[in-house]
Amino acid sequence: MLSNNTRIGIIGAGAAGLSAALALRKKGYKNITLLEKEVYAGGKCHSFDYQGRNFELGAVVIPYCSRKTLNIISDLGLKVAPLTKDRAFFNSSGEQIELIGKLEQIQFFWQVFVKLPYLQFKYRKIFQPGFKNINDELIQSFEGFCKQNNLDLFEKFSNSVCAAYGYGYFDQVSTAYYLKFLKLPLVLAVITQTDFIFLEGSANVWKKIAEQFDVRYQQHINNIKRNETIEVETQTEVLELDKLILACPLDNALNFLDTALDEEELFSKIKYNKYWSFALIMENMPKKSIGYLPSNFSPDKQGHIMCWYRRYPDINLYNFYVIANNSQEEQDIEKIMIEDLNQIGATIKEKYVSAEWKYFPHVDILDIENKFYERLESLQGMNNTYFVGELLNFSYIEAVIEYSYDLVKRFF
Ligand SMILES: Cc1cc2nc3c(=O)[nH]c(=O)nc-3n(C[C@H](O)[C@H](O)[C@H](O)COP(=O)(O)OP(=O)(O)OC[C@H]3O[C@@H](n4cnc5c(N)ncnc54)[C@H](O)[C@@H]3O)c2cc1C
Repeated sequence: MLSNNTRIGIIGAGAAGLSAALALRKKGYKNITLLEKEVYAGGKCHSFDYQGRNFELGAVVIPYCSRKTLNIISDLGLKVAPLTKDRAFFNSSGEQIELIGKLEQIQFFWQVFVKLPYLQFKYRKIFQPGFKNINDELIQSFEGFCKQNNLDLFEKFSNSVCAAYGYGYFDQVSTAYYLKFLKLPLVLAVITQTDFIFLEGSANVWKKIAEQFDVRYQQHINNIKRNETIEVETQTEVLELDKLILACPLDNALNFLDTALDEEELFSKIKYNKYWSFALIMENMPKKSIGYLPSNFSPDKQGHIMCWYRRYPDINLYNFYVIANNSQEEQDIEKIMIEDLNQIGATIKEKYVSAEWKYFPHVDILDIENKFYERLESLQGMNNTYFVGELLNFSYIEAVIEYSYDLVKRFF
């Protein structure tokens, strides 16, 4: 272990940066500084108030199997509540539909309870933290993998927690990402509807943790120079560090880091989805708190509503989730949303707030084939620099925490 006084700087005070800070403190490190560009901690765990109650603009759901996330919440004395079971699938005219037909159900359960466990056992290495050494069969698209393994109904079901949750489309993205996310306990939680939400708001968790650390907000990093020690220059100070953890989007670091050739090449390959969350005050919505529109779960329906979520049954504020294409701006999406909502018989009374998230950092299938993750992992520790966050282990809170804990265990 390094000296307790090792000066460790973490760029980004989201779930990844703050859970790395927690793990470092647990190991006895005392000299930890976090630099955050916003005025708040939490990143994509972002809550807001309306009529004195909290709502989410980013992360909502805690799968019941998220042991690390749930431990953090309970250590802080915060609470979770069950996610509403009042959910349904709808067609584009607002009529409730079944995603998996009655006749298909036995086949669906066969795929989930027999085939999936078998495949997850066969490819169990994928559940270790990170994406190094992915089995060749998991590099292909998830669509191809499901076809190869006769998982058509599982694929149809999974779309409601993949496309709708901003993770893109099965014909374009590597199986490695989805199979890691769709581990059996998570799938069971979706089927049995036993997930949780943050009672006091997801942002509150990270705000409370940030209060325990030296987090410096509204930091604009001008440059980072890595020699014997690491010099971080912001608009207000020059910080000298021994170790640097990048917990911000790695391509953002291209703006300030003295990148080596490898870093520059790898960081430039990262792709994102333009994932929008709109909080709207609504009238005449279908009477379900969570609604999915599976007809919009495909790339040709970008800009359309994929699902909605009503947090409180007595407040007409709904969240709507949309993946946009690169040419769609907020006003274009709003236009499409109005049409979608008209079709299901609902109307927008007022737009309350919205956010565009640079979401689901991932790389192309070809880059995975070309050992992107092996190369990225081999850079961990070079120039006293480390990387954590969604890209390294998939985009949900538990995965992000898992990777940060593992990185600290491996290197500090
Ligand atoms: C709409 C939406 C819904 C979601 N729903 C769920 C859900 O239901 N369940 C779930 O588990 N997960 C969900 N997620 C995903 C989850 O929120 C993220 O995977 C997780 O919060 C990512 O944490 P992170 O720290 O890796 O990244 P981020 O949260 O993006 O944190 C990165 C931090 O770095 C900061 N930063 C960036 N650039 C710089 C810079 N130059 N200098 C300093 N700081 C910088 C950012 O401001 C931010 O605070 C959702 C996400 C979104 C957007």
